[in-house]
Amino acid sequence: MEYFSKLINKGHPNRGGSIIKPIGGVFHYTGNESKTATEMNHAKYVSREYKRDSAGNAKEADGSGFSFVSAHWYIDENDAVLCIPQNEVSWHSGDRQYSLNNGYNGQTKIAKQIFENKANYKTISYEICNNSDWEKACDNAVLVAARDFVKYGIDVSAAYRHFDITGKQCPYDFVKNTVKWDVFTKKLGKEINRLKKLGYSTYYMPNDKVLLNGFIYKAPCGCTKVLDIEFKGTKCVADRVITNGTANVLLSRLGWAELTQLKFYS
Ligand SMILES: [Zn+2]
Repeated sequence: MEYFSKLINKGHPNRGGSIIKPIGGVFHYTGNESKTATEMNHAKYVSREYKRDSAGNAKEADGSGFSFVSAHWYIDENDAVLCIPQNEVSWHSGDRQYSLNNGYNGQTKIAKQIFENKANYKTISYEICNNSDWEKACDNAVLVAARDFVKYGIDVSAAYRHFDITGKQCPYDFVKNTVKWDVFTKKLGKEINRLKKLGYSTYYMPNDKVLLNGFIYKAPCGCTKVLDIEFKGTKCVADRVITNGTANVLLSRLGWAELTQLKFYS
């Protein structure tokens, strides 16, 4: 399970930019069974080209109205890609009338009572790809979400399906079979407890801050390349970060290294 960061550029219509304080997590499925509908291709799609009309309104590249849809994370059977920092708004649970939410302004009772119909501004969003091994992708989503939940102090009881917020049949598998949703949240709760016992400081995510040798650093990540790193006397940059019980970093041209083998300087 690898974590990548491919942040949508600031100012892009899919990255609203408002700072949020997440109090819940919302899970989705991509609803696309095409083999090419991987986490990275979804990440590329939400960063797609756009333009603005003379009034400044966002338009698709072909000039049609812009379709605002984005998520913090896209997760498939292999990897997870972060597209929006978890403390910024994403467009995933907007107002739309579904049969379940009639009378609630396009959202549900939960959305109104818990999120004041502003779920986008109060939650972290997870898009799980259903193009291949759905069960494995869900297990990966547990790993990704658990770290966020621990970091932001979110209880497992604040994990929701898109369905719970707007009534949309999403994630379809978890709406059709609520036992599967129960299994998923039980796994999430277990992983949250495991991380808490280990101590969150032993984990980090791309763009997180890392405490290393008493100094705080921005976590190495291939997309930001903000740090110089020294490994066995050689200067290098981190390409990717993988967390698998202990933190490891993939160094350019040098292969994998343990975090403790690295010297960081900004
Ligand atoms: Zn959804």
